[in-house]
Amino acid sequence: MKENIKCLIIGSGPAGYTAAIYAARANLSPVLIEGMSPGGQLTSTTLVENFPGYTFGKQGPEIMNDLRMQAERMGADIRSGMITKVDFSKRPFTCILDDEHELVAESVIISTGAVAKWLDIETEQQFKGYGVSTCATCDGFFYKNKTVAVIGGGDAALEEALYLAQLCQKVYLVHRRDELRASKAMQNRVFDTPNIEIKWNCIVDEIRGINEPMNKRVTSMVLYDKIKDSKEDIPVDGIFISIGNTPATTLFEGQVELDEQGYIKTQPGTTKTNIPGVFAAGDVQDTRYRQAVTAAASGCMSALDAERFLNQIE
Ligand code: NDP
Repeated sequence: MKENIKCLIIGSGPAGYTAAIYAARANLSPVLIEGMSPGGQLTSTTLVENFPGYTFGKQGPEIMNDLRMQAERMGADIRSGMITKVDFSKRPFTCILDDEHELVAESVIISTGAVAKWLDIETEQQFKGYGVSTCATCDGFFYKNKTVAVIGGGDAALEEALYLAQLCQKVYLVHRRDELRASKAMQNRVFDTPNIEIKWNCIVDEIRGINEPMNKRVTSMVLYDKIKDSKEDIPVDGIFISIGNTPATTLFEGQVELDEQGYIKTQPGTTKTNIPGVFAAGDVQDTRYRQAVTAAASGCMSALDAERFLNQIE
Protein backbone atom coordinates (compact mmCIF):
# COMPACT_ATOMS: atom_id res chain seq x y z
CA MET A 1 0.00 0.00 0.00
CA LYS A 2 1.30 3.42 -0.97
CA GLU A 3 0.11 6.59 0.74
CA ASN A 4 0.94 10.22 0.02
CA ILE A 5 1.51 12.43 3.05
CA LYS A 6 2.21 16.13 3.27
CA CYS A 7 3.98 16.08 6.62
CA LEU A 8 5.20 12.89 8.26
CA ILE A 9 6.31 13.07 11.90
CA ILE A 10 8.46 10.21 13.16
CA GLY A 11 8.45 9.90 16.97
CA SER A 12 6.06 10.81 19.73
CA GLY A 13 7.67 12.67 22.61
CA PRO A 14 6.92 16.31 23.45
CA ALA A 15 8.67 17.35 20.20
CA GLY A 16 6.63 15.06 17.95
CA TYR A 17 3.25 15.80 19.52
CA THR A 18 3.89 19.56 19.53
CA ALA A 19 4.99 19.41 15.90
CA ALA A 20 1.70 17.57 15.20
CA ILE A 21 -0.36 20.26 16.96
CA TYR A 22 1.24 23.05 14.93
CA ALA A 23 1.29 21.13 11.65
CA ALA A 24 -2.38 20.19 12.00
CA ARG A 25 -3.36 23.79 12.69
CA ALA A 26 -1.39 24.84 9.60
CA ASN A 27 -3.42 22.41 7.44
CA LEU A 28 -0.45 20.14 6.74
CA SER A 29 -2.55 17.04 7.62
CA PRO A 30 0.28 15.54 9.64
CA VAL A 31 0.61 11.80 10.15
CA LEU A 32 2.56 10.93 13.30
CA ILE A 33 4.08 7.48 13.75
CA GLU A 34 4.52 6.83 17.46
CA GLY A 35 7.37 4.35 17.41
CA MET A 36 8.50 1.84 19.98
CA SER A 37 7.74 3.86 23.13
CA PRO A 38 4.72 6.11 22.55
CA GLY A 39 5.09 9.31 24.55
CA GLY A 40 8.84 8.96 24.84
CA GLN A 41 11.02 9.48 27.91
CA LEU A 42 8.41 11.36 29.93
CA THR A 43 6.26 8.25 30.12
CA SER A 44 8.87 6.64 32.36
CA THR A 45 9.06 9.54 34.82
CA THR A 46 6.82 10.27 37.78
CA LEU A 47 5.90 13.80 38.90
CA VAL A 48 6.96 16.55 36.49
CA GLU A 49 6.92 19.98 38.11
CA ASN A 50 8.69 22.08 35.51
CA PHE A 51 6.48 21.66 32.45
CA PRO A 52 4.65 25.00 32.06
CA GLY A 53 0.91 25.02 32.59
CA TYR A 54 0.58 22.58 35.48
CA THR A 55 0.46 24.57 38.72
CA PHE A 56 0.95 21.55 40.95
CA GLY A 57 2.93 19.42 38.51
CA LYS A 58 1.60 16.32 36.79
CA GLN A 59 2.69 12.74 36.20
CA GLY A 60 4.87 12.43 33.08
CA PRO A 61 2.60 9.87 31.34
CA GLU A 62 -0.44 12.12 31.91
CA ILE A 63 1.33 15.11 30.37
CA MET A 64 2.12 13.05 27.30
CA ASN A 65 -1.45 11.84 27.12
CA ASP A 66 -2.66 15.47 27.27
CA LEU A 67 -0.31 16.40 24.43
CA ARG A 68 -1.40 13.41 22.36
CA MET A 69 -5.09 14.20 22.82
CA GLN A 70 -4.47 17.86 21.99
CA ALA A 71 -2.71 16.86 18.76
CA GLU A 72 -5.56 14.50 17.86
CA ARG A 73 -8.18 17.14 18.61
CA MET A 74 -6.38 19.48 16.19
CA GLY A 75 -6.71 16.80 13.52
CA ALA A 76 -3.34 15.04 13.59
CA ASP A 77 -3.47 11.43 12.43
CA ILE A 78 -1.60 9.55 15.16
CA ARG A 79 -0.72 5.94 14.42
CA SER A 80 1.07 3.25 16.34
CA GLY A 81 3.83 1.49 14.46
CA MET A 82 7.47 1.82 13.54
CA ILE A 83 9.15 3.44 10.58
CA THR A 84 11.56 0.72 9.59
CA LYS A 85 13.31 2.31 6.59
CA VAL A 86 13.69 5.76 5.09
CA ASP A 87 14.98 7.01 1.77
CA PHE A 88 15.77 10.73 1.76
CA SER A 89 17.79 10.62 -1.47
CA LYS A 90 14.95 12.24 -3.43
CA ARG A 91 11.79 14.13 -2.67
CA PRO A 92 9.05 13.12 -1.97
CA PHE A 93 10.71 10.93 0.64
CA THR A 94 9.89 7.26 0.99
CA CYS A 95 9.40 5.90 4.50
CA ILE A 96 8.39 2.32 5.18
CA LEU A 97 5.93 1.68 8.01
CA ASP A 98 6.19 -1.67 9.82
CA ASP A 99 8.17 -3.19 6.93
CA GLU A 100 5.13 -3.07 4.66
CA HIS A 101 3.33 0.24 4.01
CA GLU A 102 5.03 2.81 1.84
CA LEU A 103 4.53 6.37 3.05
CA VAL A 104 5.54 8.99 0.52
CA ALA A 105 6.11 12.26 2.33
CA GLU A 106 6.61 15.78 1.03
CA SER A 107 8.22 16.73 4.32
CA VAL A 108 9.48 14.75 7.31
CA ILE A 109 9.97 15.81 10.91
CA ILE A 110 12.25 13.50 12.89
CA SER A 111 11.53 13.54 16.62
CA THR A 112 12.71 10.10 17.71
CA GLY A 113 14.43 11.41 20.85
CA ALA A 114 17.29 9.97 22.80
CA VAL A 115 17.56 7.58 25.68
CA ALA A 116 19.68 8.05 28.77
CA LYS A 117 22.31 5.40 29.38
CA TRP A 118 21.94 3.33 32.52
CA LEU A 119 24.51 1.61 34.69
CA ASP A 120 22.73 -1.71 34.27
CA ILE A 121 23.09 -2.76 37.87
CA GLU A 122 20.51 -4.82 39.66
CA THR A 123 18.32 -2.41 41.65
CA GLU A 124 18.72 0.60 39.36
CA GLN A 125 15.39 0.16 37.52
CA GLN A 126 13.60 -0.81 40.74
CA PHE A 127 14.36 2.62 42.23
CA LYS A 128 13.96 4.59 39.01
CA GLY A 129 11.66 7.48 39.91
CA TYR A 130 12.11 6.69 43.60
CA GLY A 131 15.63 7.99 44.16
CA VAL A 132 17.29 7.07 40.89
CA SER A 133 17.05 9.67 38.14
CA THR A 134 18.77 10.72 34.94
CA CYS A 135 17.77 14.40 35.15
CA ALA A 136 18.79 16.79 37.94
CA THR A 137 16.87 19.70 36.44
CA CYS A 138 13.73 17.55 36.53
CA ASP A 139 14.09 15.87 39.91
CA GLY A 140 16.71 17.81 41.90
CA PHE A 141 14.06 19.85 43.66
CA PHE A 142 12.86 16.74 45.51
CA TYR A 143 16.26 16.47 47.20
CA LYS A 144 16.47 19.93 48.74
CA ASN A 145 18.92 19.91 51.70
CA LYS A 146 19.54 16.19 51.22
CA THR A 147 22.57 14.15 50.17
CA VAL A 148 22.80 12.93 46.59
CA ALA A 149 25.29 11.38 44.19
CA VAL A 150 25.94 12.09 40.54
CA ILE A 151 27.53 9.33 38.49
CA GLY A 152 29.75 10.28 35.54
CA GLY A 153 32.67 12.51 34.67
CA GLY A 154 31.52 14.34 31.54
CA ASP A 155 30.17 17.89 31.12
CA ALA A 156 26.61 16.75 31.76
CA ALA A 157 27.50 15.04 35.05
CA LEU A 158 29.42 18.07 36.28
CA GLU A 159 26.63 20.39 35.24
CA GLU A 160 24.17 18.21 37.18
CA ALA A 161 26.50 18.17 40.22
CA LEU A 162 26.82 21.98 40.18
CA TYR A 163 23.07 22.38 39.85
CA LEU A 164 22.41 19.98 42.71
CA ALA A 165 25.09 21.57 44.90
CA GLN A 166 22.94 24.71 45.04
CA LEU A 167 19.98 22.73 46.38
CA CYS A 168 21.43 19.86 48.32
CA GLN A 169 23.46 19.66 51.47
CA LYS A 170 26.06 17.40 49.90
CA VAL A 171 26.79 16.01 46.45
CA TYR A 172 29.09 13.07 45.72
CA LEU A 173 30.46 12.99 42.20
CA VAL A 174 31.34 9.39 41.41
CA HIS A 175 33.74 8.84 38.54
CA ARG A 176 35.27 5.61 37.31
CA ARG A 177 38.71 7.12 36.53
CA ASP A 178 41.21 9.49 38.17
CA GLU A 179 40.61 12.21 35.57
CA LEU A 180 37.39 13.92 34.53
CA ARG A 181 36.28 14.00 30.91
CA ALA A 182 34.51 17.38 31.28
CA SER A 183 35.95 20.72 30.13
CA LYS A 184 38.57 22.34 32.35
CA ALA A 185 36.28 25.30 33.10
CA MET A 186 33.58 22.96 34.35
CA GLN A 187 36.11 20.96 36.37
CA ASN A 188 37.39 24.11 38.08
CA ARG A 189 33.88 25.10 39.05
CA VAL A 190 33.35 21.70 40.61
CA PHE A 191 36.69 21.78 42.44
CA ASP A 192 35.72 25.20 43.84
CA THR A 193 32.36 24.01 45.17
CA PRO A 194 32.80 22.99 48.82
CA ASN A 195 29.79 20.67 49.09
CA ILE A 196 30.83 18.50 46.12
CA GLU A 197 33.06 15.56 47.04
CA ILE A 198 34.59 13.57 44.20
CA LYS A 199 34.88 9.84 44.60
CA TRP A 200 37.67 8.98 42.16
CA ASN A 201 38.20 5.56 40.57
CA CYS A 202 34.88 4.34 41.89
CA ILE A 203 32.02 2.44 40.33
CA VAL A 204 28.58 1.90 41.79
CA ASP A 205 28.40 -1.69 42.90
CA GLU A 206 24.92 -1.58 44.39
CA ILE A 207 22.00 0.78 45.01
CA ARG A 208 20.31 0.07 48.31
CA GLY A 209 16.94 1.26 49.54
CA ILE A 210 13.57 0.55 51.09
CA ASN A 211 11.16 -1.18 48.75
CA GLU A 212 7.77 -1.07 50.46
CA PRO A 213 4.60 -0.13 48.54
CA MET A 214 4.09 3.23 50.32
CA ASN A 215 7.72 3.82 51.20
CA LYS A 216 10.01 3.21 48.29
CA ARG A 217 13.28 5.13 48.34
CA VAL A 218 17.02 4.96 47.99
CA THR A 219 19.01 4.94 51.21
CA SER A 220 22.61 4.31 50.14
CA MET A 221 25.04 3.34 47.41
CA VAL A 222 27.84 0.83 47.64
CA LEU A 223 30.94 2.07 45.82
CA TYR A 224 33.76 -0.15 44.70
CA ASP A 225 37.11 1.62 44.77
CA LYS A 226 39.20 0.12 41.97
CA ILE A 227 42.52 1.31 43.38
CA LYS A 228 41.95 0.31 47.00
CA ASP A 229 40.03 -2.80 45.93
CA SER A 230 37.50 -2.13 48.66
CA LYS A 231 33.81 -1.35 49.02
CA GLU A 232 32.14 1.47 50.93
CA ASP A 233 28.45 1.91 51.76
CA ILE A 234 27.60 5.63 51.59
CA PRO A 235 24.19 6.96 52.71
CA VAL A 236 22.47 8.97 49.93
CA ASP A 237 18.88 10.01 49.28
CA GLY A 238 19.18 10.26 45.51
CA ILE A 239 21.38 9.02 42.69
CA PHE A 240 21.61 10.91 39.40
CA ILE A 241 23.05 8.86 36.57
CA SER A 242 24.69 11.04 33.94
CA ILE A 243 26.84 8.79 31.81
CA GLY A 244 25.64 9.95 28.41
CA ASN A 245 22.68 9.57 26.10
CA THR A 246 22.06 7.62 22.96
CA PRO A 247 20.10 9.41 20.23
CA ALA A 248 17.64 7.19 18.36
CA THR A 249 19.15 7.75 14.91
CA THR A 250 20.23 4.33 13.66
CA LEU A 251 17.42 4.50 11.10
CA PHE A 252 18.79 7.74 9.66
CA GLU A 253 22.45 6.77 9.27
CA GLY A 254 23.56 7.64 5.75
CA GLN A 255 20.32 9.58 5.15
CA VAL A 256 20.88 12.82 7.08
CA GLU A 257 24.04 14.31 8.49
CA LEU A 258 24.79 13.17 12.04
CA ASP A 259 27.47 14.45 14.42
CA GLU A 260 30.18 12.21 15.85
CA GLN A 261 27.87 11.15 18.69
CA GLY A 262 25.03 10.24 16.35
CA TYR A 263 22.83 13.32 16.95
CA ILE A 264 21.17 14.86 13.88
CA LYS A 265 22.89 18.06 12.83
CA THR A 266 20.55 21.03 12.41
CA GLN A 267 21.31 24.48 11.09
CA PRO A 268 21.72 26.83 14.08
CA GLY A 269 18.49 28.50 15.14
CA THR A 270 16.37 26.22 12.93
CA THR A 271 15.33 22.57 12.74
CA LYS A 272 16.60 22.16 9.17
CA THR A 273 18.83 19.18 8.46
CA ASN A 274 21.17 18.99 5.47
CA ILE A 275 18.28 17.55 3.41
CA PRO A 276 15.76 20.22 2.33
CA GLY A 277 12.34 19.10 3.56
CA VAL A 278 13.67 16.95 6.41
CA PHE A 279 13.61 18.55 9.86
CA ALA A 280 14.72 17.35 13.30
CA ALA A 281 13.24 18.36 16.63
CA GLY A 282 13.76 17.54 20.29
CA ASP A 283 16.44 15.41 21.94
CA VAL A 284 17.43 13.72 18.70
CA GLN A 285 19.27 16.95 17.81
CA ASP A 286 19.91 18.41 21.27
CA THR A 287 22.91 17.51 23.43
CA ARG A 288 22.55 20.52 25.65
CA TYR A 289 19.08 21.28 27.08
CA ARG A 290 17.19 17.97 26.86
CA GLN A 291 14.08 19.26 28.59
CA ALA A 292 10.48 18.38 27.74
CA VAL A 293 9.71 22.06 27.23
CA THR A 294 12.70 22.67 24.95
CA ALA A 295 11.78 19.55 22.97
CA ALA A 296 8.21 20.85 22.66
CA ALA A 297 9.53 24.24 21.55
CA SER A 298 11.70 22.72 18.85
CA GLY A 299 8.72 20.59 17.77
CA CYS A 300 6.85 23.84 17.20
CA MET A 301 9.83 25.22 15.25
CA SER A 302 9.98 22.13 13.07
CA ALA A 303 6.31 22.43 12.07
CA LEU A 304 6.79 26.12 11.24
CA ASP A 305 9.92 25.26 9.24
CA ALA A 306 8.03 22.49 7.40
CA GLU A 307 5.13 24.83 6.67
CA ARG A 308 7.45 27.50 5.25
CA PHE A 309 9.24 24.86 3.20
CA LEU A 310 6.03 23.41 1.76
CA ASN A 311 4.66 26.85 0.96
CA GLN A 312 8.00 27.68 -0.63
CA ILE A 313 8.39 30.80 1.43
CA GLU A 314 12.13 30.12 1.63
P1 NDP B 1 30.08 12.12 27.85
O1 NDP B 1 30.14 10.96 26.94
O2 NDP B 1 30.90 13.32 27.55
O3 NDP B 1 30.50 11.63 29.32
C1 NDP B 1 29.99 10.46 29.87
C2 NDP B 1 30.68 10.22 31.20
O4 NDP B 1 30.10 9.08 31.81
C3 NDP B 1 32.19 9.95 31.06
O5 NDP B 1 32.89 10.57 32.10
C4 NDP B 1 32.26 8.43 31.18
O6 NDP B 1 33.45 7.97 31.79
C5 NDP B 1 31.11 8.12 32.09
N1 NDP B 1 30.57 6.80 31.84
C6 NDP B 1 30.15 6.27 30.67
N2 NDP B 1 29.67 5.02 30.85
C7 NDP B 1 29.81 4.76 32.15
C8 NDP B 1 29.49 3.63 32.96
N3 NDP B 1 28.92 2.53 32.45
N4 NDP B 1 29.77 3.69 34.28
C9 NDP B 1 30.33 4.79 34.83
N5 NDP B 1 30.64 5.91 34.12
C10 NDP B 1 30.38 5.89 32.79
O7 NDP B 1 28.52 12.46 27.97
P2 NDP B 1 27.80 13.79 28.49
O8 NDP B 1 26.34 13.46 28.54
O9 NDP B 1 28.43 14.31 29.71
O10 NDP B 1 28.02 14.85 27.33
C11 NDP B 1 27.64 14.58 25.97
C12 NDP B 1 28.11 15.72 25.10
O11 NDP B 1 27.39 16.92 25.40
C13 NDP B 1 29.58 16.05 25.29
O12 NDP B 1 30.15 16.42 24.08
C14 NDP B 1 29.55 17.21 26.23
O13 NDP B 1 30.70 18.04 26.12
C15 NDP B 1 28.30 17.95 25.78
N6 NDP B 1 27.73 18.72 26.89
C16 NDP B 1 28.09 20.02 27.02
C17 NDP B 1 27.61 20.78 28.06
C18 NDP B 1 28.04 22.18 28.17
O14 NDP B 1 28.82 22.61 27.35
N7 NDP B 1 27.57 22.91 29.15
C19 NDP B 1 26.68 20.24 29.05
C20 NDP B 1 26.37 18.85 28.84
C21 NDP B 1 26.90 18.14 27.81
P3 NDP B 1 34.87 8.08 31.06
O15 NDP B 1 35.26 9.52 31.13
O16 NDP B 1 35.75 7.19 31.87
O17 NDP B 1 34.64 7.58 29.68
